Amino acid sequence: MTTSENLFARAQELIPGGVNSPVRAFRAVGGAPIFMQSAAGAWLTDVDGNKYVDFINSWGPMILGHAPAVVLDAVREALPHSLSYGAPTRREVELAELLIEMVPSLEKVRLVNSGTEATMSAIRVARGYTGRDKILKFEGCYHGHGDSFLIAAGSGALTLGAPDSPGVTEGVAKDTLTVPYNDVPALKAAIAANPEQIATIIIEPVVGNMGLVEPAPGFLAELRALCTQHGIILLFDEVMTGFRLAPGGAQQLYGVTPDMTTLGKIIGGGLPVGAYGGRADIMNQVAPAGKVYQAGTLSGNPLATAAGMAQLRYLHEHPEVYTQLEATSAHLADGTRQIAKDLGLNYTVNRVGSMFSLFFTSEPVNNLEDAKKADLPAFGRYFHAMLKRGIYLAPSQFEALFVSTSITDELVEKYLGACRESLLEAHG
Ligand code: PLP
Repeated sequence: MTTSENLFARAQELIPGGVNSPVRAFRAVGGAPIFMQSAAGAWLTDVDGNKYVDFINSWGPMILGHAPAVVLDAVREALPHSLSYGAPTRREVELAELLIEMVPSLEKVRLVNSGTEATMSAIRVARGYTGRDKILKFEGCYHGHGDSFLIAAGSGALTLGAPDSPGVTEGVAKDTLTVPYNDVPALKAAIAANPEQIATIIIEPVVGNMGLVEPAPGFLAELRALCTQHGIILLFDEVMTGFRLAPGGAQQLYGVTPDMTTLGKIIGGGLPVGAYGGRADIMNQVAPAGKVYQAGTLSGNPLATAAGMAQLRYLHEHPEVYTQLEATSAHLADGTRQIAKDLGLNYTVNRVGSMFSLFFTSEPVNNLEDAKKADLPAFGRYFHAMLKRGIYLAPSQFEALFVSTSITDELVEKYLGACRESLLEAHG
């Protein structure tokens, strides 16, 4: 038994499913998860000493690779000053200034401890501001595990939500409307069927959580116009895309400015952080400025803000990071597409900036229904074949890969070599 297997056996006795977040359990691809020991640059090392090139990067935050000196130094510098005060600090102000400078939609911002907290808080504020109860989300978009977001797609655009998880009440679910991503007619129909009832429309402007799905040309602009027309707060959930697709996130890349934005992951450089913000008149509703309550003992934590500031400042001062990520990711994604084609598979590869997915289907993937056409058993075999060759991918077809600046040309070649062999093995 390997050390990983041993730890997983122990973990299953102690922790539900043996993991502290479900996707880590490898349920979608079979097998047992690998327990990690350390990481540096592009490489993860597991508890048995095996090494893997990392294409998850903690699900996004490690955009500069693992343990970058600039972030570690900032944390080291902050460490002797203690770990938490429960009182305001200078760095919270500086981080707010930087976030507001970089992200077009932010006029005011509040720090929290996770992406989930950010989205839960943001919809409360939107509801408080508009005095409306309903929210609308898109099928296949993930916004954390808040009750309001765990709602099944339902049978059509106008169907009221049904809970996706036991423990989410019908009462909560009925206030969440869902429509397919990239579907303007369905969106218009849902708005028309719920006049002056929708507080906010929340969207991943580029979806990472059904695999990588890009907004159709003009979709975000149309969404913006509809929200303005109907007094609905447009909320971009940029927990994955923020500071990754561009210094100002997807909203900068596509030139569409939402009313509110949620952030996470990258802004903590690997430590637990989230943030939500937007127009000042909306954010002024948040306590203690306004009546919408939201709080957090560890919010603005000194180590998390140190790590986040260091990483964001680096991104701010080194725009060449995005040029490098674009070139590396294009090389990876184009190479993957070509290999699939050479093997007669014609699989779909979607990419925006440093996020991409290989879908095990030859049809275009523009929404959740399309993504579900993928050959999941073949993906599972591919995943394990890649892992065996030292390539660490997300253990699900419905996740994107995240590229870091630590991926060199040599590692791109390693990935592409493994990709060819693994696709063959998966279809052998
Ligand atoms: N929103 C999006 C778009 C996400 O991808 C995630 C997590 O992956 C979340 C929200 C929730 O963030 P967290 O896991 O930090 O609670």
